[in-house]
Amino acid sequence: MTRQSSRSDPSSRADCLIIGGGASGLAAACVAARRGLRVTILESRDRVGKKILATGNGRCNLMNAGEPRYCGQAAFALRALERCPQRKILDFFHGLGLNTVEEDGLVYPATLQAASVLEALRLPLEGNPKVTVLTGTQAAEIIPGGDGFCVRSREGGLFEARRVIAAAGGPAQPKLSGSDSLYPALIALGHALVPPRPSLTALVTEKSDVRGLKGLRLPAVCTLCDGQGLPADGAEGEVLFAEDGVSGVCVMQLSREAGRLLDAGDRPTLYLDFSPLLGLAPRRMLHTGPRPAGARREEVLRWLRSRERLLGREHALIGALPRLLRERLQGLSGPALAGMLCAFPLRVTGLRGWDHAQVAAGGIDTDGVDPDTMESRAVPGLYLTGELLNVDGDCGGHNLMFAWASGMLAGESIASSRGGRS
Ligand SMILES: Cc1cc2nc3c(=O)[nH]c(=O)nc-3n(C[C@H](O)[C@H](O)[C@H](O)COP(=O)(O)OP(=O)(O)OC[C@H]3O[C@@H](n4cnc5c(N)ncnc54)[C@H](O)[C@@H]3O)c2cc1C
Repeated sequence: MTRQSSRSDPSSRADCLIIGGGASGLAAACVAARRGLRVTILESRDRVGKKILATGNGRCNLMNAGEPRYCGQAAFALRALERCPQRKILDFFHGLGLNTVEEDGLVYPATLQAASVLEALRLPLEGNPKVTVLTGTQAAEIIPGGDGFCVRSREGGLFEARRVIAAAGGPAQPKLSGSDSLYPALIALGHALVPPRPSLTALVTEKSDVRGLKGLRLPAVCTLCDGQGLPADGAEGEVLFAEDGVSGVCVMQLSREAGRLLDAGDRPTLYLDFSPLLGLAPRRMLHTGPRPAGARREEVLRWLRSRERLLGREHALIGALPRLLRERLQGLSGPALAGMLCAFPLRVTGLRGWDHAQVAAGGIDTDGVDPDTMESRAVPGLYLTGELLNVDGDCGGHNLMFAWASGMLAGESIASSRGGRS
C-alpha cells in the first residue's frame, strides 16, 4: 500500500471515502475537499487517473459542448447533466486552473495533453491535509452500519467513513485500470447489474474481406447493415485497416450496434462508401432500402466514367485511391467497380474485447440510483458514479463528461448533507 498523501491517521473515519481514483472519483474528491470534507480515496492501482492519461489519444477529449449522446440508461445521464450541465463542468475545470479549447464541439485541454487534466485534478488534493490517497488498495466489501460505512479492502484494511462514493469505473482496458472488481460488493447491497459488454471498440471481420489492406487509413462513410441488408447504424470518419478487421473512431461508434446484432445471432455487414476519397459529398445514412449501394452507385459510376475519359480505364483510379485499395479492386470495372467503391462490404464476425474497448456498455442499473445526487436508493449514504453505472456515451467526450458530472453531483450532495462550505 502506497500512501501518496496522508493525514495523521488514514484509517480514522473520513467524511467521504471514494472507491476509485479515476475521472469521476477525482472530480468528486475535488468538490468534497473544496467544501472542507475529510476525504479518503482508495485506488487499487499504483497511481490515480491512469485511464485519464490515455484518453483522446493522450489529448483527453474531456467534454462535448454539443447535444449529450448516451446509451444504456440514457435518461439517467441526461437528468444528471441537467443538474450538472456542460457550463458547470467547464467552470469546474477552469476553476482548477485548466485552460480548454473547443474543436467542433469537442473540448480538450489547451495544452492538448491529458496529463494537464490529471495535474489540475491532483494539485488541490495533494496540497490538502484533509485528503488521503491510498493507492494499491482494492475495495472488496462495503459494510453499512450505524451512521456510516466500513469498507474492507482485498489487502485486509478496514476504512470507516460517513459516506462512500463507488467510482470504480468499468472493465474496459484492464491494462489502463479497467476493472469489474466492485460489482460484487454493490450487488451484495441490493444493486442490479446489467451485464457489461465491450463498447467503442474495433470490429473483427472476415479476414478475406480486409486482405491486402492492413495499415491503410481511409476516410469513408460507414453503414452497418443487419443480416437482411437493412441499415442499422452509420458513422463517418477515418477507417483503420488491420489484419483481421477495422477500427477508428467512426468504426468504434458502430460497435455497440454491431455487438447487439451479433448477440442476437445476426450477421451484420459494414459497408464502406469511399465517396470522400472520390471527391463526392458524403451521404451519410441515406440508404433506406436493402443494400446501401442504391442511388449512390449511379453517381459513382458517372464519376468513374468521367475518370476513364480523362485518364483511360487502366489508370482511372490512380490519384484517387491508395495503391493497396486499387490492387484489391483490380479486375473490376463498370457497375461492379462502382458498387464496391460506394459499398465495400466487410462481414463483421465479432468485436475486439475488453483490451481494446474504450467503455463498458452495461453496469450497475441506474434505477437504484437518484440521478439528482447519485445516491443509492437501496443504501442511503452510498453514492455511485461514472462508468460503473449502466450509462455509456458516444465518442467525442461524452463518457468523461458523465464521469465528471456524476462525480461532482455526488461530492456536492455529500458536502451539502453535512453542511460543508459552499
Ligand atoms: C483508451 C481510452 C480512451 C478514451 N478516451 C476518451 C475520451 O477522449 N473522451 C471520453 O469522454 N472518454 C474517453 N474514454 C472513456 C473514459 O476514459 C471513461 O469513461 C472514464 O474514465 C470513466 O471514468 P470513471 O471514473 O467512471 O472510471 P475510471 O476513470 O476508469 O476510474 C476508475 C478507477 O477505479 C479504480 N478501481 C477499480 N476498482 C477498484 C476497487 N475495487 N477499489 C479501488 N479502486 C478501484 C481503477 O483502478 C480506476 O483508477 C476513453 C477510454 C479509454 C480506455
